Amino acid sequence: MTSGIHPFSSINFYCETRPHDIAVADENGSYSFARLQMNAWQAVNGFRSLGLTQNDRISLICKNRYETLVLLAAALLGGPVIVPINRRLTRSELCWIIDDAQSKCVIMDEETATLLGDIECQNVFILKDKSSSNPEIGLCFARWLSEQSVEKNELLFTPRRDYLQVYTSGTSGFPKGVVLTEGNCVSQLIAISLTFDIAILPNEKMYQTLPLFHVGGIFISLLCLSKGARLILRSEFNPQAACELISSEELEHATLVPAMIQACTSLGDGKNYDYRSLKSIIYGASPISEPVLRAGRQHFACDFVQIYGMTETHSVISMLGARAHKEIFDSRDSSLFGSAGHPIIGSHIQICAPDGSEVAQGAIGEIRVKSDLVMKGYWNNPEATNEAIQNGYLLTGDIGRIDERGYLFVVDRLKDIIVSGGENISSLEVESVLMRHPAVADAAVIGAPHEKWGEIVLALLVVKSQVNASEISEFTREYLSGFKVPKLIVFIDSIPRNAGGKILKRKLRESYATPTESAPLLA
Ligand code: ATP
Ligand code: MG
Repeated sequence: MTSGIHPFSSINFYCETRPHDIAVADENGSYSFARLQMNAWQAVNGFRSLGLTQNDRISLICKNRYETLVLLAAALLGGPVIVPINRRLTRSELCWIIDDAQSKCVIMDEETATLLGDIECQNVFILKDKSSSNPEIGLCFARWLSEQSVEKNELLFTPRRDYLQVYTSGTSGFPKGVVLTEGNCVSQLIAISLTFDIAILPNEKMYQTLPLFHVGGIFISLLCLSKGARLILRSEFNPQAACELISSEELEHATLVPAMIQACTSLGDGKNYDYRSLKSIIYGASPISEPVLRAGRQHFACDFVQIYGMTETHSVISMLGARAHKEIFDSRDSSLFGSAGHPIIGSHIQICAPDGSEVAQGAIGEIRVKSDLVMKGYWNNPEATNEAIQNGYLLTGDIGRIDERGYLFVVDRLKDIIVSGGENISSLEVESVLMRHPAVADAAVIGAPHEKWGEIVLALLVVKSQVNASEISEFTREYLSGFKVPKLIVFIDSIPRNAGGKILKRKLRESYATPTESAPLLA
């Protein structure tokens, strides 16, 4: 039974009114809304019978698959809190998070079970693939689930109740458990539904390959189901397979990160994909360069929507909608390029100086946000929580500005700003100029320590045709003031990125940012 608004009420509506429609299709099969609802209640009842409470944590380590949605739905229906963990982590990193979350249950795929071996946890379940040839590996989650009661309880909306604990990607430090609540979830679904200027309709199909251990993938999947649309889940991104699927299955929507858009547009496989069904691409998680966005539009010929946010805000806090993108594509307003749009309904964004005071209109400072989307806090870490949330505002760790029309521009991460000779340089600005060079396929910019200047700009480039460092340097001079022009240029084979498509600058700094004392060189 359900009355009033609840984070599951919209999905529940489709479970009741369109029970036989497919809700999720993954690499193992297709699952209806009725099946999702039944499995979610079975999970709630099953965990209760194991003695797990609403506050207990369940660690989940697997590739993108249907069961993650079952467990998220169960958490929203009053089951234990879900802690989805990046399956690419090492054994010791996985064990650290399982332990940090004080997990009462661990659910993982066979590959992870092999990697982890015996672990100290009372309740361990294995997620098996259709093709599994290893029936003896452990207690099968699907079999256990099928034996649980299907009884439904009343849905009770408890805004401050935890339902999800996501570990930050650790792009700039050690991962921290971000505790998110039912209230965060409801606020996100409502705010996005009201702010989106694209329509996602019942029975439409959405390609979703963003990992379900990051909030971006989780939020977009819950949104898709809340609209009665069908989630087409894939565990690995492959540009050819993605383009093929969108074309042959006539998908209406796709969620991609900029690196994926770039991979699709530079396929060059000579195939003519048919994207006539495609209505929108939703992208975000990292900045996009102008050539990549324009190539994406030319390739897919559909609406584009950019989202900006972070784990600590249950995902999206600002959005550049389809209409604004049309202005950019039609060259009516190119000043919008690089903007992350307007704050979504219900989120208030301020740009602040380090002392917390608001900077002047248009000036650059730290992006701070006040919103119902802001996390309850970092798990068992009140010091970090108090540092991150001050006077009701979350300090995002990103630097940005807001123009006179209220458009937000993300300038860089605070930790990635390069300080050279006392000047602040946005690594993103330099990267976006480098990406405009026709020979550059990918670029990352970091600061290298320098005796005289403090730091100098170091560009790491992946090229697609012959070019030398002085040509690149000359090119950037056309667009950048002298102090921003890269003083060191190194050609590499690929830029390391995490599963969410974010450049691992920490890793690049470790490998390339060695101190330079002499006059800068173009390597
Ligand atoms: P950690 O906090 O552990 O270093 P992380 O910040 O990479 O990890 P996430 O919360 O997944 O973890 O990422 C949020 C960050 O991603 C934002 O703070 C911002 O820097 C970047 N980001 C997200 N969306 C966009 C976007 N549309 N444009 C530019 N940057 C974005
Ligand atoms: Mg962060």
